[in-house]
Amino acid sequence: MLRVECRCGRVVLLDPGKLLDRSIAAGGGHLISKVASRLRCGDCGARPSHFGPG
Ligand SMILES: [Zn+2]
Repeated sequence: MLRVECRCGRVVLLDPGKLLDRSIAAGGGHLISKVASRLRCGDCGARPSHFGPG
């Protein structure tokens, strides 16, 4: 899974395959690092402070 951490302390685990599928379908590219860096925190709306395998 892809672990995405926010500076507010929120941590979410996402399925990178589904994330990429959604991004590619939306024309957003296929690099997980780019896709993850564009995510927004569901609590505070900030970009992830850190992401990686988790
Ligand atoms: Zn946050």
